[in-house]
Amino acid sequence: MTRPAIARIALNRPLRRLFDYLIPDSLELAPGQRVTVPFGRQTLTGLVVEIGVEPPPGVNLKAIKGTLEAWPALPDNTFNLLTWASDYYQHPLGECLFTALPPALRRGRPAQEKADESWHPAATEAVLPANAHRQVALFNAIKESPGISSSALVKSGFSRAQIRNLQQKDLITEGAKAITAPATKDLPAPTLSAAQQAASAQMPEHTHEFSAILLYGITGSGKTELYLHYLKTHLNANEQALVLVPEINLTPQTLARFRRYFGNRIQVWHSALNDGERLSTWLKIRNGEPVILIGTRSAVLLPFSHLRTIIVDEEHDSSYKQGEGFRYSGRDVAVYRAHLNRCPVILGSATPSLESWHNAQQGKYQLIRLEERAGNAKPPQLELLDIRSRPLEAGLSRPTLNSIKETLARGEQALVFVNRRGFAPVMMCFDCGHLEECPRCDTRLTYHRRDHAMRCHHCDFQMAASHTCPKCQSENYKPVGQGTERTEDTLAEQFPDTPIVRVDRDSTQRKGSIQAILKRVNTGEPCILVGTQMLAKGHDFPNVTLVCVVNADGGLFSVDFRAPEQMIQTLLQVSGRAGRGDKPGKVLIQTCHSDHPLLINLCQGNYAAIADQLLAERETGALPPYRAMAIVRAEADTMQNSLQLLDTLKPMAQSPGIEIWGPLPAVIARKADRHRAQLILCSDSRGHLNRVLTQLCQYLDQARLSSSTRWVVDVDPQETG
Ligand code: ADP
Ligand code: ZN
Ligand code: ZN
Repeated sequence: MTRPAIARIALNRPLRRLFDYLIPDSLELAPGQRVTVPFGRQTLTGLVVEIGVEPPPGVNLKAIKGTLEAWPALPDNTFNLLTWASDYYQHPLGECLFTALPPALRRGRPAQEKADESWHPAATEAVLPANAHRQVALFNAIKESPGISSSALVKSGFSRAQIRNLQQKDLITEGAKAITAPATKDLPAPTLSAAQQAASAQMPEHTHEFSAILLYGITGSGKTELYLHYLKTHLNANEQALVLVPEINLTPQTLARFRRYFGNRIQVWHSALNDGERLSTWLKIRNGEPVILIGTRSAVLLPFSHLRTIIVDEEHDSSYKQGEGFRYSGRDVAVYRAHLNRCPVILGSATPSLESWHNAQQGKYQLIRLEERAGNAKPPQLELLDIRSRPLEAGLSRPTLNSIKETLARGEQALVFVNRRGFAPVMMCFDCGHLEECPRCDTRLTYHRRDHAMRCHHCDFQMAASHTCPKCQSENYKPVGQGTERTEDTLAEQFPDTPIVRVDRDSTQRKGSIQAILKRVNTGEPCILVGTQMLAKGHDFPNVTLVCVVNADGGLFSVDFRAPEQMIQTLLQVSGRAGRGDKPGKVLIQTCHSDHPLLINLCQGNYAAIADQLLAERETGALPPYRAMAIVRAEADTMQNSLQLLDTLKPMAQSPGIEIWGPLPAVIARKADRHRAQLILCSDSRGHLNRVLTQLCQYLDQARLSSSTRWVVDVDPQETG
C-alpha cells in the first residue's frame, strides 16, 4: 500500500505552526498555491508550504477540499523571501505569507478581476433629443476615448442607467475587454547635471547581479531624476521594478514625475487602495506585466516575477518598519529580496540611516555621493538661534518673526516646523500645579483648541477641555508649550494678510486635503506653512526660502538611543525644503542648547560628519548597528504580571554572547490601561540571537499565561522606549 500524500498548509492565523492535510488523488499541488481546507466547522483558505511530508502517527487527517487556482499565488522567490522573513522577524509563517496576498485572495475569492465593460461608439453622430444634455455628453465621452470602461465613465459622473440607455438606442456597443487609458507619451531619459552624471556613471551596469548602493544625495540634489534615468537606461521593456517610498499621498509630485516618463507602466500600492484596486495591481505583478510599482512598505512583499531593480527612497524613514504584527523593515527586506533575486537595490537618502551608513563604511554597500543641488539651487544656510532668556511670542522669537516678515515681503514662502500637533502639549494650573493627564496612560493630554478637546496621542481617549482647573477650580489654568494650532494662531495675529496653511495629521484627515494644500503652496503665492514632520518629507516647494524650527531640543536628551539620529534627520530634511528653486534658502533653528556639538555640526550641513560621530557613540555603547538587538515586550493588566513573564524568560535567554537589559517598565509604562515592560537582548551574532529568540517564542507559545497577558518579539526595534 502506498503511503497517503500529505501537504503541510499555512493558515492566516497567529499560530506558530502549520497544519497537515491529506491530498486527494486528483489534486496536483505546488508550494505557494491557494487551497481550501476544513478547519473545525469552517472552511479556510490556506497556502501550501510543503508536499509529501511524513504524517504524524495516529492522527486522523482531514483532506484538502480543493485548489483555488492551478498556479501558485506566491511564486518561489516570494515564498522564499517570506519564509526567511518569518524566521528573521520571529513572526508566524502563515501570517507572513498571507500579507503578500490582497485582501480578496486572503478571503478565498477567485484570482480574477471583475469584468468591466468597455464602450465604443456605434454611430458617428448621436441623434438625441435637444434637451438630453447628459446623454450627448456621455456619447461624446465615449467617442473621444473609444474603449473607455464603465467604471471610468461612472467616475466622470455618468450613471450606469445612462450607459444602458445609450446602448438600447444602439448608439454605443460593448467591446471585448476594457482597455486602460492610453499611456502618456514616453519621454526619453532626463538630462542630468554634471554631478548627477558622475553619480549615474557609478550606478550598477547589470540588473542581473546583486548589488546594494547607498545613494547619499543632499536634499534637492535630484535623486528622483537619477532614479528615473537609471530605470530609463537599465530596465528592459519586459522587466519589473519596485520603488519604495515612505508615504505616497504626501508626494503626488514624485508620482506625476514617474508617470510622465513611464506612463501606464507606473502602478501604485498603498493603504488607501480599495480591495478591487489591490487585486487588480496584484494580478498585474503576479502575471509578470512590466510594471514599475511605486509603493509603501508592504509592496516589497508582492509576488514579482521579473523584478530587476529595487529603489528605496528616503531609506532612513522610520515608517519602513512596521510597528505591529509582522514587524518587518521594508528597507531591510528589500535588500534581502535583491540578494535572493540577484538584482540591484538602491537606497537613497540625504540623511541615511546609521545602519546603511555603517554598511557603506564596511564596504557592504557601495556609497555614491551627490553633494550638489540640482539646477541653480544652492544648499540652504543654517543658523542656530539661542532662545534662552529671549522674549517669545507663543514660542517664536523676534528675529524669527522678522525673518518671516522679510521673506513674505520678497514675495516668498516661509515654513514653520513644530513638533507637536494640537494647541499645546500640556494644560497646567498655575495655582495648584495640576497637570491634566490621560486617565488610561502615563502621559499628559494635549489641548486641541479647534474643537476644545483634550486628547491623548497614545490612546484614543478624549474629553471636553475645561476652562478652570479640574482640581482646584482656579481660573489660572493655562496651556503650556507649543503645538501647531497655537503657532498657527500666533502667526495669523502677526501676519493678518497672509494665508497660513497648517499641515498635520488633524488638518489632513479628509481625503484629498493634502493634495489641495500642496496645490495651493505650489502656486508660489506668499504664505506661511505650519506643520509637523509631514512637512519634512520629500516635498519640492520652489518658493519656500525660509524654514523656522520652533524648538530643536526634543531629541537631544531622550532615553531612546535612536532619538538623536532621528532628530538630526528630521531637522536636515525639514531644512532641505528651503531654497530648492533659484532663490537662496535660510534655516533658523531655535534652541536652548546652541553649544550642543550635534546642533553645531548640523549647521555645517554636513550629515556625513554627524553620522560618523553618532556611529562612534553607538560603537562605544555597543549598540546597533554594531550589535544585533531584539526586544521582547510584554503587556498585562498589572505591571507585576508583565515583569514576571519577562523575569521567567531571562534565564532562558542567558547564554554566552547574549547581553540582557531588563526587564524594565517601558518609558510610557501604562498605555490604554495596559502595563508594559520590556526585555532587551543584544548580541554580536545575529544567528545566535535568532536561535535564542526562537526558543523563547517556543516557550511562550506553550506557556500558560493569564488571559490578558500579551507578548511580542521585535527584531531590530526602531523604538526602545
Ligand atoms: P531630492 O529628491 O534629491 O531632494 P529632487 O529629485 O526632488 O531632489 O529634485 C530637486 C529639484 O531639482 C526638482 O525640482 C527637480 O525637478 C530639479 N532637478 C533635478 N534634476 C535636475 C536637472 N538635471 N536639471 C534641472 N533641474 C533638476
Ligand atoms: Zn488647580
Ligand atoms: Zn491615553
